[in-house]
Order: sequence, then C-alpha cells, then structure tokens
Amino acid sequence: MLTDASPKSLEQERDETLAEIQRLQRFLEIDLDEADDEIDPNLAEREKTLALIQTLERRVEMLERAVESAQKGKYGICEDCGQPIDAERLAILPETTLCVKCAQKRQKRRW
Ligand SMILES: [Zn+2]
Repeated sequence: MLTDASPKSLEQERDETLAEIQRLQRFLEIDLDEADDEIDPNLAEREKTLALIQTLERRVEMLERAVESAQKGKYGICEDCGQPIDAERLAILPETTLCVKCAQKRQKRRW
C-alpha cells in the first residue's frame, strides 16, 4: 500500500521511535540496578538492546531531517541528485532523504 507521507506522519514516526528509545533505556536502567556488581547473566541481552537503541537513534536523526525537508517542501526529493524519490521506497523507508541510486553510491563510498 502506498501512503502519502505527510509531515505529520513523519513526526509521529519520530515520536514513536523516541518513545521506544526511552522505553529501552528504562529497561536497561532497571536491569543495571538489579545486576549490581555480580556477573551479569543478561550481558548479551543488554548489548543487543544497546545496539537497538543506537539503530533507533540513527533513525530519529534521519526522521528529523526528513521532517525538516518536509517543512521546506522538499520531502521526497533526493538530497544528492534532486530527483524525486520512488514512492514505494518512501512507503517502506519514510525517513530516507536519498533515492535508491544515491543511497547505494553512498554505501559504496562508506565501505
Ligand atoms: Zn539521488
């Protein structure tokens, strides 16, 4: 299903992601209190949660940028080449500010 991603839904997405981060952080804090100085049997679990929080934080950053570009009336326009981003891509990845081609180019550059 294709949706018209409006600034409002982007902001909702961002708020929900932020709420999820807070929930996970609270979970980590409770866990820490209980673990005390003993060897923590939940270490692997906690590292997984930390990694998830980092992923979500990156997502929030991207959503912020998408919200900004929406405010400038540039939502759905690729940051790099200025071409419209495929609607299907936006439906799956509402936070993206790059078209498929430019996203792939950037990934190649990074690796
Ligand atoms: Zn592009």
